[in-house]
Amino acid sequence: MSTSVPADLQTVPRSTGDWNSSPLNAFSVDVEEWFQVGAFENTLERNDWPSLESRVELQTHKILKILETCGVSATFFCLGWVAERHPDLLGSIAEAGHEVGCHGMDHRRIFTLSPEEFAKDIAQSKKLLEDASGVTVKGYRAPSFSMNTDTWSYYRLLEEAGFSYSSSVVPAKTDHYGMKGLPRVPFYPLLGSKFIEVPMTVAHVCGAVLPASGGGYFRLLPQFLSRFLMSKAKKQTGMGTIFYMHPWEIDPGQPFVRDAPLKSRLRHYTNQSHMADKISTLLESGQFLRMDQLLANQFAAGL
Ligand SMILES: [Zn+2]
Repeated sequence: MSTSVPADLQTVPRSTGDWNSSPLNAFSVDVEEWFQVGAFENTLERNDWPSLESRVELQTHKILKILETCGVSATFFCLGWVAERHPDLLGSIAEAGHEVGCHGMDHRRIFTLSPEEFAKDIAQSKKLLEDASGVTVKGYRAPSFSMNTDTWSYYRLLEEAGFSYSSSVVPAKTDHYGMKGLPRVPFYPLLGSKFIEVPMTVAHVCGAVLPASGGGYFRLLPQFLSRFLMSKAKKQTGMGTIFYMHPWEIDPGQPFVRDAPLKSRLRHYTNQSHMADKISTLLESGQFLRMDQLLANQFAAGL
């Protein structure tokens, strides 16, 4: 496959509207089990997964409750692995008016998959998610934001599989992922195609490019700092925050993996007991909506 990163990436045109004075934000949840995270990949074997305590239903229902209380609709990028084992959870997400997106089958980073394996992975997970939820899945998020220059051609496979957009890159280099030099607003990754990539939010501060999209950074940093970074990015790009979190981040009752490296344990467990309050405060501070709604309302994107 020969698709490479186009030299001049076109950004998606903005629609006109009063959102210009107060940009909209998107709220997303990457639905996976606590034991499927990158932090534990060298400690817990994939073969052990079926024997570990499942917490994803309990955790996701906790998030659904917060969203209901705050009157917010969100996008849930779910693993096919979760849909296969907890189809009712997918039904609950869709019934509550949230968008169901795809997070792949079993959280393998996409650059570890051949094009054939990737095509199989997205077809299988999309079908499992649609069968369980009863809704069409249009959005995709690569596990661990693992889209990179080597896998750029996979955008074409996503389009061929029936996806309309992806949210799989962080336009900054971090220790785990990210690509420098990409647009910070939605863009067309493929020439001659309306398929959209919605990059995660980053802020430019004193020459540094810092993640401002939520996840572990939001959980670990004091709220004022997260708010500063999000507001900085908003001023710089003219668009709101693409926020994301995981169900396991809100669950201080989950098993503790003592054998994991100290850095991984700190990254995974710190501030889990404060996350529910932090999320509620965030949701009350601005207008959040589903990824597909943000693309339809703020950008001229017919999905
Ligand atoms: Zn994930």
